[in-house]
Parts: sequence; structure tokens; C-alpha cells
Amino acid sequence: MLAPPPLRNDCFALPAGVSWTPVDDALAMLRDRLSVVTGVEQVALGAALGRVLAADVTAARSNPPLANSAVDGYGFAGAIPKGAHVMPVATGRAAAGGAFEGIVPAGMAVRVLTGAALPEGVETVILQEDVTVGDNEIAFYGPLKAGANTREAGEDVVAGDLALPKGRVLTAADLALLSAVGVAQVAVHQRLRVAVLSTGDELVEPGQAVSPGSVFDANRPMLLAILGQFGFVPVDMGRVPDDRAALRLRLDQAAEQADVILTSGGASAGDEDHVSALLQEAGAMQEWRIAVKPGRPLALGLWGGKPVFGLPGNPVAAMVCTLVFARPAMGVLAGMAWQEPQGFEIPAAFEKRKKPGRREYLRARIRNGRAEVFASEGSGRISGLSWAEGLVELGDEERDIQPGDMVRYIPYAGFGV
Ligand code: AMP
Ligand code: MG
Repeated sequence: MLAPPPLRNDCFALPAGVSWTPVDDALAMLRDRLSVVTGVEQVALGAALGRVLAADVTAARSNPPLANSAVDGYGFAGAIPKGAHVMPVATGRAAAGGAFEGIVPAGMAVRVLTGAALPEGVETVILQEDVTVGDNEIAFYGPLKAGANTREAGEDVVAGDLALPKGRVLTAADLALLSAVGVAQVAVHQRLRVAVLSTGDELVEPGQAVSPGSVFDANRPMLLAILGQFGFVPVDMGRVPDDRAALRLRLDQAAEQADVILTSGGASAGDEDHVSALLQEAGAMQEWRIAVKPGRPLALGLWGGKPVFGLPGNPVAAMVCTLVFARPAMGVLAGMAWQEPQGFEIPAAFEKRKKPGRREYLRARIRNGRAEVFASEGSGRISGLSWAEGLVELGDEERDIQPGDMVRYIPYAGFGV
């Protein structure tokens, strides 16, 4: 299998001389510099849900393939003028999958059922509810336009047309479309494998014995779950203490087993921030200082040729940075078209003082048609992440918000979770 070219060492380099990079600049950089890293395989449609198309898919057949009836009724040629009509009915019928043999003579009608290919000599159909049926004849009122109650061949999709573009993440509806146009298997990218590891001497597994300073590892189960929802293969690399040698070994293993590595904790520039220190040592580290709240510095780099997203340790910042930065970046690595989080404007149910010059994401949910935000913005407040059903995104230059002001709400689903 042909392997895509490796990522460049400087793929995460932000513009020089900017102390706090705006979110949009950082995102544009990820979009422009990253590229797909996964190979391609053929899968049957039945196994294609959630997979990423590796090539444009064209329709093998038109939908509908032939002109057909949209209703149960009677078919005949041409238009019918206003007034009462009686028409003789030919023997036989046209049903879906059961063609009418022969030609329907002008001035005669034939019984047709929904989905039946229009017999030769039939262009127009009248609903059975609109006719009185006698012995071998029907009576009804005009007018009827030529082509009424029928579907044209290819009115939905024409054979040879683009059915779905490369980079599309296949939905259930997409599987219906591809089936309808005769596509039985598709070329998709192999699933992106994403390694997740937590760092910190204080971390213990829930259920384990604790000492007074212990903190249960909250990030790993969250990140592994989110990655599954993104359609990636989460690879659990466990917890690593604040020990450089141990972390180095674990990163080596992660780089072998996965296409991307997500770490949390240890990404700043403190004494125990070994993720950033190791990436620095590897010579491929970029400290991302983004004008965003919540979000301490992110450490981005390559380890063994694999991109590393060094997320902050605080669970709130870890999740927001994953949704806002890591998700679209991993999407590109996985072959997806660029993912924009889908949100909408809604009145605020809250008041908030905001400094211009940075973007803010607030844990939020909708109640009674207004966006509520969690009572505390503390980035250690995990209960707020769980309380929330999405995020309010306050633009870089937005200032104070009053109740009733319109704000942008992005449901978690808009981020793919
Ligand atoms: P750090 O980024 O390593 O300086 O960690 C910042 C804060 O997040 C500290 O209070 C850590 O204890 C906490 N933290 C780091 N990793 C996790 C984790 N996996 N689960 C819960 N809290 C964490
Ligand atoms: Mg730490």
C-alpha cells in the first residue's frame, strides 16, 4: 500500500513575533499544513458508516433509473383538459418491478402502481382516489398537466454525476444514496488510530488506592470516548508519571501503535512539564499560545514522525482544546474535509464581562430557548462539562454580554460528539 508522505517538522510552526495567536489563524494553519496520513482500503457499503471517502464517488446508475409513477392510479398519454372524462382501461397493469408488456394506445388508460416504470404510451398519472372505476373504464375530472404524478428518470441523480465527494464522512443517509445509485463498495481511508496518555505523578485510576494528593485520571476516559465518537480508533496508552525516561518510552510505544498522539498534562514550561521538554528535545516542538479561554499553552510537535497534541491537564481546557483544535486537525490527518463546528445564534440567559482580544468558550446548554452558562468558569470544574450540552463561543472582539444579547451556541453534536 502506498504510504502518504511524512509530515514536515515545521508543520505546527505559528507565525513568528505574535505573542497570542488568534484561534482562526491557528486553525487556518492546521488546515493548510496538515495532510492525510492514513492509507486507503475498499469496504462494502454495509461496513462504511462513519468512514471517510478517499475518492469522489460517481453514480453508477441514475435515480430513479426510469420514469415512474409517484402514486397508485391510472396512466395515459399527455395532458387532460378541464371537464369530465371517461376513458377505457387496457388489460394488464404496471407495478414496481413488474413492467407492463406492450404499448398503451392513445385515449386509453392503464392501471399503474407507485414506483412502476411508465409503460410506453403513458406520460401522466391520475390518483386512484380521484377516479371512479367502472367495468374496464374510469371516470374523472380534468385538468391534468402532462407528466402529473410521475417522476422523471434521473430527476434525483444522473448516472455519472458526483454522488458524494472525497473527504465525506459517511452517514446513514449517504449509504441510502450510494445504494440507490448502484455503488456497492467504496474507497475509504483507514481509521485514524489515536493514542491517548495522561501524565502526572498525582494521577491514579478510579478504584485504585489513593494518597491525600492523588487525583483520579479524568481526562483519559473522556478523550478515549470522544475519539470513538469522532470515528477514530482510540488507543489507550495509560498514565505516565512525571518522569522523563518513562514518558519517552511511552511516547515511543504510542508512535508505533498510533497515527497521532494526544497527551494531557505536562504541556507548559514548568519543571514537571515533561511533554513539552521531550518534544523540545526532539527538535520538533511548538508552544502554542492561543488567544483563547480556557486553554493554557498547547505543546504541538512530532514524535517518531507522529503528530503529538500536548493538551493542558485541566479537564475543561483539555476538552475544549480537543474539540476546537485537535478535532479538525485529526480530521485532516484522517482524510476528512475540513470540519467547521456547526452552531447557531440564540439569546443569552446570562450576563458576562469579557475582555476583547481573545476568544472564550463557556460551558452552556439551552433551556427555554436561551443559552444558559455554567455558574463557574473554573477550568477544574468537571461537573460543568457534564452539566453542559454544548459551548457558547464568544468572538475574539466581543465584549460584555447582557441577557437577551445574541450569542453563538455550538451543541456538542456540532463538534461531532
Ligand atoms: P498540568 O497541565 O500537568 O500542569 O496539570 C494541570 C492541572 O490539571 C493539575 O491540577 C492536574 O492535577 C490536573 N490534571 C492533569 N491531568 C489530569 C487528568 N488526566 N485528570 C484530571 N486532572 C488532571
Ligand atoms: Mg502535571
